[in-house]
Amino acid sequence: MSLGCPKALVDSERIVTQLRAEGYVISPTYQKSDLVIVNTCGFIDEAVQESLDAIGEALAENGKVIVTGCLGAKPGEAGGNLVSQVHPSVLAVTGPHDLEAVMGHVHTHLPRPHDPFTDLVPEAGIKLTPRHYAYLKISEGCNHRCSFCIIPSMRGDLVSRPIGEVMREAQALFKSGAKELLVISQDTSAYGVDIRYRTDFVEGRPVRTRMTELCRELGELARSHDAWVRLHYVYPYPHVDEILPLMADGLILPYLDVPFQHSHPDVLKRMKRPASGEKNLDRVLGWRAAVPQLTVRSTFIAGFPGETDSEFEHLLDFLREAQLDRVGCFAYSPVEGAAANQLPGAVPDALREERRGRFMAVQQEISRARLARKVGSTQRVIIDSVGPKGAVGRSSADAPQIDGVVQISPHASLRVGQFATVLISGCDDHDLQASLLTPAD
Ligand code: SF4
Repeated sequence: MSLGCPKALVDSERIVTQLRAEGYVISPTYQKSDLVIVNTCGFIDEAVQESLDAIGEALAENGKVIVTGCLGAKPGEAGGNLVSQVHPSVLAVTGPHDLEAVMGHVHTHLPRPHDPFTDLVPEAGIKLTPRHYAYLKISEGCNHRCSFCIIPSMRGDLVSRPIGEVMREAQALFKSGAKELLVISQDTSAYGVDIRYRTDFVEGRPVRTRMTELCRELGELARSHDAWVRLHYVYPYPHVDEILPLMADGLILPYLDVPFQHSHPDVLKRMKRPASGEKNLDRVLGWRAAVPQLTVRSTFIAGFPGETDSEFEHLLDFLREAQLDRVGCFAYSPVEGAAANQLPGAVPDALREERRGRFMAVQQEISRARLARKVGSTQRVIIDSVGPKGAVGRSSADAPQIDGVVQISPHASLRVGQFATVLISGCDDHDLQASLLTPAD
């Protein structure tokens, strides 16, 4: 809607031209529009009132309104912005002659439509993963300062992507054939903290940028596409409990990748780990009680500076009691620039390796015993590869590249990227063997 003088009209022409160039269509009615842009005049009182009335009408008739033009630059009586004060529900306000800002707000609230005939790349972008699974990065950077890590100095503090943007990418990935989304970040539990869990729009609905809301939205979207959502890099903050019901309901996979790194509170303190005050063993046991089929994956560091024999034994005891399903362990290795290098009590290289070996030996037994309990059960798997000797699939317990797999005896109906139901017939330390129970769907 264009109001005001010919200079404002030219601004409107530029906005319309850019919208058309990007593939948007201009609609003559509020009802047929996804969004209304009102280019205002703020010269004389009458023009101000006419513009405010026009904004009010657009809000009443359509609801999604971006305001630009001279009135957008006019301050309110007590400072601030007049338009935002009179109409607080407008999506955004810019001043005159600000095509870039207007288009930025349009992109936020009504993403540019994809045109399969003219766009050079697919809507979901170019992926280096197989077509049936994709990583979904929800934030970049990290607000923590773990003493062994230099990621924050390279990638900066946490910057969360607004939930609307993340969901649009998820939608595009499912549309392009992804059957499993792997949610990644440096700290998935902290999603939205940096923007105070700001409300954004998902298909026109207001939704907070927060982990629980994201999991629910992703889970519902995945369900409508018969697909999986798997969470990585979750820290054991209390609010993680909120997503367990979503796992129990089958909205997201019963799988948590929680990088504990150690169990002893003093080592965790020296590591400056997030959520180091949490009683991690109780948390794991509580999660399992809520969702018995839960798989917990974690990583640990053996031989961190100052680690005593008894602190290491504490770690082994934790492992035995927590019975984690999937575990990786690194012998501590100093990273240039990490604060931990200054800590006293460096553990000799050979002892670090020895501890890592002892740790993995304990884990191997746990892993085999936990896998053995699955023999005789039926599992839904996604097929990663098919060859003459059979297929390789993954169950809800197996993230690609880092966990074990399910080896399935040959069957003509198996195809890469499909789900299948299999009967588990055997196991070794990390993988399962199975035969196809129902043809791949
Ligand atoms: S290890 Fe610590 S500082 Fe490094 S990215 Fe993870 S949470 Fe952030």
